[in-house]
Amino acid sequence: MLLTLSALSTPQAPASNLSFLLHKHPDKLQSFSLPFGQAHLFYPEYSDHQCTLSLLLDVDPINLSRATNPNPNQHLWPYVNDRPYVCSSFMSTTISRVLGTALSGNCKSFPEYTSTPMHLKVSLHNLPVHSGHTHHELISKLFAPLGYHIQTQHTGLLNERFPAWGESPLVDLHLEHSSITLQELLAHIYVLIPVLDNNKHYFVSTQEVSKLLRHGDSWLHTHPEKTWITQRYLKRQTRLAKLALQELQHHKDEDNTPQTKDINQEPHTTIETTKNLHQRRLEQVLHTVLSLPSHHRIVDMGCGEGKLLKLLQNEPAIEHIVGIDVSTTSLQRAQRKLRMDELSYKESQRITLHHGSLLYCDDITTNADVITLVEVIEHIEESLLPFAMYHMLGFAKPNHLIITTPNADYNSLFENLSAGHMRHNDHRFEWSRKTFEAWCITQAETYNYSVSFEPVGDLHPELGAQTQMAVFSAN
Ligand code: SAH
Repeated sequence: MLLTLSALSTPQAPASNLSFLLHKHPDKLQSFSLPFGQAHLFYPEYSDHQCTLSLLLDVDPINLSRATNPNPNQHLWPYVNDRPYVCSSFMSTTISRVLGTALSGNCKSFPEYTSTPMHLKVSLHNLPVHSGHTHHELISKLFAPLGYHIQTQHTGLLNERFPAWGESPLVDLHLEHSSITLQELLAHIYVLIPVLDNNKHYFVSTQEVSKLLRHGDSWLHTHPEKTWITQRYLKRQTRLAKLALQELQHHKDEDNTPQTKDINQEPHTTIETTKNLHQRRLEQVLHTVLSLPSHHRIVDMGCGEGKLLKLLQNEPAIEHIVGIDVSTTSLQRAQRKLRMDELSYKESQRITLHHGSLLYCDDITTNADVITLVEVIEHIEESLLPFAMYHMLGFAKPNHLIITTPNADYNSLFENLSAGHMRHNDHRFEWSRKTFEAWCITQAETYNYSVSFEPVGDLHPELGAQTQMAVFSAN
């Protein structure tokens, strides 16, 4: 299978930027061993005007037949199938393995290139297009909204000697975009190849939701076919598709939320009238972090505008700080608050911000000594909390996890909060101490952690404090 990717020079971006962004030297032929075959990379063309990379994927059919689980309904499938000859999910996996740095939008030598739009062309040969639509109709539905000029060449009949066998599903697809970043283009084809093929060579689990949301981050939530793409990408697993679509909707809402309604612009203290409760809460979390036996690397999930990050930054004992939030608006504020643009090189390595979600697993959350979730869980639908806790305690597995959330028992003491109402209009729930503690204990048992609880704020003898905090520690 062959994928060719070309950059054409523009006044903003010379074609040669492509090789820097791909981290592949134009004078070298490079080969990579993959679990399912070999990938070869070379540049058939490298001029001032145009730079072209070819990615040739050679899937090993013998290996494939050995690796395929026998399916009683398809005895011959491991031996007789189209996978070594078509552009399928094997190609997507190859893109992520071999061009992973470009796919994740990184370029060490020239970081500014990653966000500079380029004039790019990509050709995918022998792409299987399976659907009730004509191939061109389907391809247009997927790629036209992303701004591509599309050309297709259909292979024709499956076998001219046997017209009754019908048309081949294979198409050569040529896409061209005059203003797109390399990361965007790679993400589009990474996601849409298996969507067109309606197949994947591996088992689809919750991790696949993470991949879809990561690679669909900048475009999928506004794509008119987002539901269809999501369902096909997740192999029609309804539960996973529902989760992904909920996250995409959240993303869209975030984009559409007027500034004044941003939850960080209406600070939590609107109802929590006690002065500086928010500040006291953050200080107590900081104090708890520092009292834990290991606290070198901290991840603040749902970091908002970065108030806790700022406190952590002032603590020399903390070596690495990562702030993650689903809201780009909040992250921009955090970036300003922490003056990220003015940090020294060393400091910019120490503290980083990432766009991500509590609900999908991301390697960035692994290796943390402590993860903090300060006033975040109540912003998530209760039905989605198991995904959040799997991410935190089942996947990221920090030594400690700190969670704070409102204590609903205390609500009756707020004069300006009528009975039955929650403190903030974005809260999906507010739990009593009994509910929160029971939930935490179940989570701790599930993931082999122990858990302790602390009140945060003004302690009422019967109703507890405004905020409740759980500290989980790995057993
Ligand atoms: N921890 C901060 C902000 C709390 S407000 C503080 O105490 O100051 C709740 C934050 O959670 C918001 O910034 C919101 O964008 C973020 N959030 C909501 N859902 C999220 C999700 N699924 N993943 C990550 N962050 C999320």
